[in-house]
Amino acid sequence: MISDVHTHFWTPDHQGPPWVDGLGRVSRSLSAEDIDSVTAGSYSERKLPAERTIVFGLQAHASGIFVPNDAVAAFVREVGGGTVGFMSVDPTRHDAVDEIERCHADLGLKGIKLGPIYQGTSPLNPLVLRVFKTAERLGLPVMIHQGAIFANAGRLADSLPLLLDDVAIAFPDLRMVVAHMGHPWIYETVVVMRRHANVYADTSAIPSRPTVLANALSAAKEYGVLHKVLFGSDSPMVAAERAVESLHKVVARMQQIAYTPITDEELHDLLHRPSFELLGMPEPPVVPEPPVVPTPDLAWNA
Ligand SMILES: [Zn+2]
Repeated sequence: MISDVHTHFWTPDHQGPPWVDGLGRVSRSLSAEDIDSVTAGSYSERKLPAERTIVFGLQAHASGIFVPNDAVAAFVREVGGGTVGFMSVDPTRHDAVDEIERCHADLGLKGIKLGPIYQGTSPLNPLVLRVFKTAERLGLPVMIHQGAIFANAGRLADSLPLLLDDVAIAFPDLRMVVAHMGHPWIYETVVVMRRHANVYADTSAIPSRPTVLANALSAAKEYGVLHKVLFGSDSPMVAAERAVESLHKVVARMQQIAYTPITDEELHDLLHRPSFELLGMPEPPVVPEPPVVPTPDLAWNA
């Protein structure tokens, strides 16, 4: 069973400047409507072949993105079984800790999505550290974008995965997933993962940069942390099916040319990682497809 730990929910209402101004500049496909607007229908299509998923919005005032957590919780209810929601909080807001407590207690959201650079801050800012502290106390895993972004918010120096070493030292029981393996700083990510049992990384978005992905997987294997690399797609930007295909393609090429290739078995294990269990969450029940009910023959009633 494939679990996808990295999928997004938002609609155009949740996006304003400077985010929307930058999208067209960077990528026409990223500003396309099917990327901007996630519905339960489009989500269910794009999540296959994953059967279990983690979905989140983002709250980042510095970037012009604000997805209300109530909207994420409502979306999760609409999508149904197999999908778990994470909250997002903007640590620069005074009520961030209250919002975490509320989303945990009232909305049933099971983790926290952070992107300090999108939020115009550093993971080592005391305002962000109080968020980590609360997450550790409540047992909420944190999905963190600690890597480069195209938008102009924040400072790249604050997006280095190496900074998470200090976070993991301060909060050893906090489970963290470094999104996109901290691209392009994949080596920083794997050495932080090696030192800290509760630091993981996901493969989301990087298949579109095959050199980065291949080096990231080789580095993870060489540093002995491949078992902590989780599958993520970055849907709707990348549909899960395409992400799986790209992983297969990159791994096949690695088997021809890489010093440290990934075996078919290692790729299978990566795709079928028990990610929910590793992140300390119960696996959401997967609702089976409804059985096809044959259309009754109503001829007799005519
Ligand atoms: Zn993402």
